[in-house]
Amino acid sequence: MTTEPRVIRAPRGPQKTAKGWVQEAAKRMLMNNLDPEVAEHPENLVVYGGRGKAARNWEAFDHIVETLDRLENDETLLIQSGKPVAVLRTHEWAPRVLLANSNLVPHWANWETFDKLDQAGLMMYGQMTAGSWIYIGSQGIVQGTYETFASAGKKHFGGDLKGTITVTAGLGGMGGAQPLAVKLAGGVSINIEIDPTRIQKRLETRYLDEVADSLEDAIKKAEQYKAEGVARSIGVQGNAAELVPQLVDMNWTPDLVTDQTSAHDPMWGYIPVTAPDEDASKLRTEHPAEYKARAYEAMAKHVRAILELQKRGAVAFDYGNNLRQRAFEAGVENAFDYPGFVPAFIRDSFCEGRGPFRWVALSGDPEDIRATDQALLELFPEDERLQSWLTYAADQIAFQGLPARICWLGYKERDQAGKLFNQMVKDGRLKAPIVIGRDHLDAGSVASPYRETEAMKDGSDAVSDWPLLNFGVGIASGASWMSFHHGGGVGLGFSQHSGFVIVADGTEEAEQKLSRALVNDPGMGVVRHADAGYEHALDTAKERGIDLPSLGI
Ligand code: NAD
Repeated sequence: MTTEPRVIRAPRGPQKTAKGWVQEAAKRMLMNNLDPEVAEHPENLVVYGGRGKAARNWEAFDHIVETLDRLENDETLLIQSGKPVAVLRTHEWAPRVLLANSNLVPHWANWETFDKLDQAGLMMYGQMTAGSWIYIGSQGIVQGTYETFASAGKKHFGGDLKGTITVTAGLGGMGGAQPLAVKLAGGVSINIEIDPTRIQKRLETRYLDEVADSLEDAIKKAEQYKAEGVARSIGVQGNAAELVPQLVDMNWTPDLVTDQTSAHDPMWGYIPVTAPDEDASKLRTEHPAEYKARAYEAMAKHVRAILELQKRGAVAFDYGNNLRQRAFEAGVENAFDYPGFVPAFIRDSFCEGRGPFRWVALSGDPEDIRATDQALLELFPEDERLQSWLTYAADQIAFQGLPARICWLGYKERDQAGKLFNQMVKDGRLKAPIVIGRDHLDAGSVASPYRETEAMKDGSDAVSDWPLLNFGVGIASGASWMSFHHGGGVGLGFSQHSGFVIVADGTEEAEQKLSRALVNDPGMGVVRHADAGYEHALDTAKERGIDLPSLGI
């Protein structure tokens, strides 16, 4: 007997069944993470990023929803790797939910230990925003991806990406943002993806413009658009470990090369090269060791080709999926010859506490997002990047699940936006409360030596006191739910990070929480980078008045 998969969709509108808007928000956001429009594999509770899940299993999901509906305004629900384990009496100013996902004692922090515990039903992989209930579909990463490609244009091509071709791979939950982001930055992109259903999904949601019949066809089209100065994205079906080396063999070099396949997870993420009559998932189930060895072999081949393209003049960078480390483990000694995207393009923003700020309309009404877009355009009239992004996003970005928006804001900006949204809920300009959150990929919330904290000025790349402090700061400052995760985008053993969410429900209490939490959370980015000796962060701290006793500021 086959059972129909469950279809989850968050309730919409101003009526709640929980005892407070924070609990209602947590419930709707958990459900929204599993909305088929939002999640990559909702039937398995997988939201994005290989096997990043929202709850450990369906039983745990049901218990979380029931508990959030009965949770009092002075209680806190504890979630351990996707399972609700306790309700504790706390107080009104405490978070309503605390989550810890995929954490292991460092000596055992590897996939082998995790997989055993996962199979025994004791853990789940939370990725970043999957297990902390603030994923908003591919839009969540679009602006960050745009910031990266726009900076690459500024740094290497004298402005934007007009007249350039980028080659990348992976059109999954996050990677699917790449074609749109490159286009926004003015460039042409060729996007390799092995799974035709992912290509189809990106076409349907307008993240990808067209599909080529073959690699040759993709290059021909891309060259034509490049010559015409047209910004356009092209998908091509195939395995990156075959097609990127083919570019080398064809002696064709793109202007930029990167990758966003799920290389962080050699077992469930990166797909090895298979023969035409071979079934990759069967191979994984029946011969896991061989599958993994072949995934590593493929990643080594892929990285060798990227290195060769770099040698031939392409700007190469790692896009936060740990592909270089996997290739290094498979014997590519110079895998780290090309940089990660954070030191290459993003660190300056982090020094200002600038990073991804996202919000979701619990009303479910797109008009609420339009009203907040307009309000932010008026609040920050001088910020040109923000003005052009919000104008573009309002026009071009298709919502997935509950209507949501993202933009990058810095220290002493996010609180202004949060308080404004709270006021708009209070005076009825918005039809229901707004959930505000961010990625764990932010200025002061993550330790990840091959990504966010790669090549720190003082060598403190692997110090994870910082995300732990960030987790504590959110709790102490009024966050609605806080999370602490391990692994995230780069896999087990390679990162620790903290998630932050706060609800603007129009109350005076929310106003106070927003004005502390949305200052202190991005403030941790300035503090972290000032402590590491970045001048730009020290200047920001001085200008905006952060008290840093060890630095005499
Ligand atoms: P996902 O699992 O949803 O998608 C990965 C995609 O890669 C899938 O569509 C898969 O079919 C495809 N793929 C796998 N192996 C392939 C191969 N050999 N050739 C071609 N296609 C292949 O993951 P996602 O959410 O898109 O994330 C992708 C990666 O980026 C992950 O490692 C994630 O941790 C990382 N990530 C980076 C950032 C960032 O800001 N840089 C942010 C989030 C996630």
